[in-house]
Amino acid sequence: MKRSALCLALFGWPISAADDPPVQAPVALYVKFESQPPAVAVVTLERELRAILAPVGFDFAWRSVDETTNEVWTELAVVTFKGHCSTDSLARKGQFSGGALGWTHVSDGRVLPFAEVDCSRIGDLVGGRLFAFTARVREKVFQRAVARVAAHELYHVFTGKTVHGSWGVAKAEFSTEELLSDSFRFEGENARALRRKGAQDLLQFVRRAPLPAPVAPDSASH
Ligand SMILES: [Zn+2]
Repeated sequence: MKRSALCLALFGWPISAADDPPVQAPVALYVKFESQPPAVAVVTLERELRAILAPVGFDFAWRSVDETTNEVWTELAVVTFKGHCSTDSLARKGQFSGGALGWTHVSDGRVLPFAEVDCSRIGDLVGGRLFAFTARVREKVFQRAVARVAAHELYHVFTGKTVHGSWGVAKAEFSTEELLSDSFRFEGENARALRRKGAQDLLQFVRRAPLPAPVAPDSASH
């Protein structure tokens, strides 16, 4: 069974905030693709990520980092999808050579709202197993695997936890089977922690709380 560590320590990035924008929704995900995938892949990824986060109380607005909007959020995260995030470029015999599938940025022990997901590594890990499916199902199963890695990193961002759970999406490592299984979600205390955070964000949203102050980044291990 191939397994891959999920997280990696990296240097933090600066946070930018919009000027005097209106509150639109509690949580926003700003997404960036290093290599822009087809629209169907993006739509499927967004849907699969919602399917993982909705049961733990997280709804989110999905935005491209390239959009210049005047919005402000109770909580936000920037997710960069690296490599190729579509089944179009999957290899039948992908060679997974190790490395993190995703990682977050940490500053002075605090998790910053920046996550990265390596689609090409995920494809190398699971791609060969996906050719048993039709093209449409293959896209869904692949994007669900990518969404599981993204959800894991967002767990760090939204809970502020750098520790991992024993099972479920908050685990430190995912196996190929877990990435491809029909059911693999947040469990137990990690699900409850996300649900509490989602409820807090919703409360702040109702109160129209201002955006938290930017954090000066440095580096720390995670
Ligand atoms: Zn992790």
